[in-house]
This record gives sequence, structure tokens and C-alpha cells, in this order.
Amino acid sequence: MADPAAQTTIKVVCRFRPLNKSEVARGDKYIPTFQGDDCVQIAGKPYHFDRVFQSNTTQVQFYNAVAQQIVRDVLGGYNGTIFAYGQTSSGKTHTMEGDLHDPEMMGIIPRIVQDIFNYIYSMDENLEFHIKVSYFEIYLDKIKDCLDVSKINLSVHEDKNRVPYVKGCTERFVSTPEEVMDAIDEGKNNRHVAVTNMNEHSSRSHSIFLINIKQENSQTGQKFTGKLYLVDLAGSEKVGKTGAEGTVLDEAKMINKSLSSLGNVISALAEGSVSYVPYRDSKMTRILQDSLGGNCRTTMVICCSPSAFNDAETRSTLMFGQSISLNDM
Ligand code: ADP
Ligand code: MG
Repeated sequence: MADPAAQTTIKVVCRFRPLNKSEVARGDKYIPTFQGDDCVQIAGKPYHFDRVFQSNTTQVQFYNAVAQQIVRDVLGGYNGTIFAYGQTSSGKTHTMEGDLHDPEMMGIIPRIVQDIFNYIYSMDENLEFHIKVSYFEIYLDKIKDCLDVSKINLSVHEDKNRVPYVKGCTERFVSTPEEVMDAIDEGKNNRHVAVTNMNEHSSRSHSIFLINIKQENSQTGQKFTGKLYLVDLAGSEKVGKTGAEGTVLDEAKMINKSLSSLGNVISALAEGSVSYVPYRDSKMTRILQDSLGGNCRTTMVICCSPSAFNDAETRSTLMFGQSISLNDM
């Protein structure tokens, strides 16, 4: 196994989407200016990240720069998590999924799937791989299984090694890339059927896809496991104080709370805090506990709109990204 030392395990990268058609039609100003490949400025204020990706970055360029190495590490037995954070319509799903069945426009999840199987096919025959995937979402702090619509309120338990997991969540064993993509299509379809407006719903729920890879060498008996969580977070936008009530207000409060818990956990990890990391403050951070920080690979993708119309949200998104990468050296 590669030596994980000397490598920052938490990376924060930022990606700007292009102006969309209606923003162009409206004549919105394109507000970011870029400096080098790690800094973006809004109204003269610079924000630094491990990498900043401009609006013309292609899906394959983004994959190669951000996700490819994590896949290698997971195949080497490390755990990892990739998050997409940002307001609704900032490009989170484009980044994580993209157009799932289009070779050029597919996002990082389908590319990861391809990469994993290409690796497996290239390995020697003594290595046996067991891959299983799960797909669930967290909505109003309830965990719903996207591969089994009857499971609408799963709970987090700890296994005998005190590693938290979602109890009873469907684990689909897969042996080809097509089977993984089928599971994703099925899960997405189930999510669609359950709600009247999928865009609205997806902006208020965290979507989590887990790939678990176990390798066993039949000659030496050596075994190891790597887990990769791929998380498309709920929209980070602030809900206006006026008008929001009932479910909308509850949703907003939950999202706010879970995103700030996530921020707290990641910044504690980025600071190298070993004594206290507040994993237990939210379901999501509990579930991800053994795949964040420490000996894991964690990448946060900060997704931004470039339109002047979204100025305030974009700054607040960039601030969130800065707050979790403050101590990056
Ligand atoms: P979110 O998941 O954050 O709500 P989406 O990923 O659905 O946002 O993006 C909103 C729209 O913008 C979609 O139509 C998407 O295809 C488009 N889009 C997002 N990012 C990019 C990009 N980098 N290049 C081209 N189009 C993009
Ligand atoms: Mg989305």
C-alpha cells in the first residue's frame, strides 16, 4: 500500500459553471475572475483553494484532476469521500453524475465506475474482487433507501468494530460496470417516483452513493477493503426569512444544520484535530465517520454560479469552502 503520510487528506476544490441560457438572455454579468489555477476573485476579494476550475473545464478534465487519484487510493485499500456543495443549480449533479450515459458529458460517478472495472480487468487472476453498492438519501433527517422504496427511515448503527453504518440498507452486489449503472438508474427512478418535483426534492435532500470494494488474493489470503462515498449535498442556499413556513422551513433548518455540522467536522479534521471531531452532531457525519479525514481521502467540490444574480450565494459558498480549508498548507 502507498504511504499516505505527507499527503493532505482533505482537499477543497472550486468549480464554476458557465452562465446558462436564461442568464445570458437576461444579460447577467459574469462575475468571477481567475488567477492561476488556485484562486478566484469576486469583486476584488480573492478566495484560495487547492484548485479552481473555470467554466470551460470539461467533465474529463475535472475527473482526471480531482477524482482519478482517489479511485486509485480506494483500490489500494483506503476509504474516501467526494462531496459536491453549492446552491441549487450551481452544478453539483452535473459534477457528480452529469449525463450518466453520455461518454463526453458523464460526471465523476460513471467515470469512477469505468475506472474501477478497467483496473479490475487489468489485475492478475489471483485477485478476487467483491463489489457492492448502496444508494440512499437523507431527507428531513430521515435515511431513505433509493434501492428499496419500502425502507423510508433507516437508522445508523455501529458494527462490532464500532464503525457506523446504515442498518438494513440495500447492498447490491455488482460484477460489471453495467450493473452499477443499472443500480444508479434504478435508484434515481425510485427517487423520481416518490416525489412530484424531482429538482425541488433533490435540492432539499443529500444523495449518497456508496461503492464498497473488497479484494482478496486467493494465493496469499491477503484481504483488504476500500469504501468510496459520493455525496451530492442538498442546496446550500439560505431560505428567505419571510414566507417560509411548515415543511419548507423544517427542510431549510435541517439542511442548514447538517451542512454546518459537516463543515465543523471537516474543519476539525483539516486542523488536524484528533482529540475531538463532532461526528455525532449529524446523521451524515456519523455515517461517513470512517471515510473522512485521518487515513482517508476527502474532497469537497465547491460548486458556484458565475452570475451576478447569484452574487450573495456564491460568496457565501466560497466562504464555506474557505472555512473548511483554512489550515491547508
Ligand atoms: P445542482 O445539482 O447544483 O442543482 P445542476 O448540476 O443540476 O445543479 O446544474 C444546473 C444546470 O446547469 C444543469 O442544466 C446543468 O447541466 C448545467 N451545468 C452545471 N454545471 C455545468 C458545467 N460545468 N458546464 C455546463 N453546464 C453545466
Ligand atoms: Mg442537483
